[in-house]
Amino acid sequence: MTVARAAELIRNARRGLALTGAGVSAESGIPTFRGEGGLWTQYDPVKVASIEYFMADPSAYWKVSKDRGRVALAASPNPGHRALAALEASGRLVAVATQNTDGLHQDSGSHNVIELHGSGRTVMCLDCGNREARSEVQARLDVEMPPRCTLCGGIFLKPTVVLFGVPLPQPAIQQAFALAREADVMLVVGSSLVVYPAADLPLIALRSGAQLIVVNAEPTPFDELATVVVQGKSGEVLPEIAALIGG
Ligand code: NAD
Ligand code: ZN
Repeated sequence: MTVARAAELIRNARRGLALTGAGVSAESGIPTFRGEGGLWTQYDPVKVASIEYFMADPSAYWKVSKDRGRVALAASPNPGHRALAALEASGRLVAVATQNTDGLHQDSGSHNVIELHGSGRTVMCLDCGNREARSEVQARLDVEMPPRCTLCGGIFLKPTVVLFGVPLPQPAIQQAFALAREADVMLVVGSSLVVYPAADLPLIALRSGAQLIVVNAEPTPFDELATVVVQGKSGEVLPEIAALIGG
């Protein structure tokens, strides 16, 4: 049985690393980008999530971001997030590297979270560098569009997420790559594994001799390289795995 095999591999892990994607937050009500019902069936990603688009018209960016932000800020961790936090607490996982920007891993009690694509919980003014909580900015979007910097009045207030056309935060990438090189088990959850360099992590781990486990609702390009593939919902599969492992 694949869940039992996955549990066995993780039980023996000493330097396990998880890589998560949008799928892990789907059961918290946050839509994924790709996959069934994904956002990119509605929007053109390069348009709405690129730095060029943002700089050309911050209000157009915020009009789309407003709805997504409301959903993400209201979301709570699901059993999948909690199972990953438990696996870290019991020493099986060293860290969670995530492509998500929703902060739900931290909310669920994971301590070592590497945010590869930044955080949607903070907003930064590109003119003066002032930072504000996303919730504060979110609260005034109904009356202020685009939102303005409370310090300098600038209109280029950008969530601290990585938009298309901008390099990934180097410290996070480097830390994740180092952990992937040292990992004995790489657990990928809820990622289509088509976005690089995040998808380099399982490749690096494999090259260093790690066993790869993929938990995803749909097939991924890495399935054939994995020791175990569990096709299913992370909010169901991960608690099963964690329960088999115990404290
Ligand atoms: P993706 O949207 O490309 O892929 C998500 C994958 O999760 C799909 O293969 C889908 O089949 C699978 N999935 C859907 N529901 C699932 C479930 N309940 N359990 C397990 N798997 C499930 O996501 P990605 O690989 O993370 O890459 C997309 C980019 O989207 C990233 O850059 C990320 O920053 C961004 N993003 C983040 C959030 C978030 O913060 N929650 C949400 C959407 C997109
Ligand atoms: Zn400012």
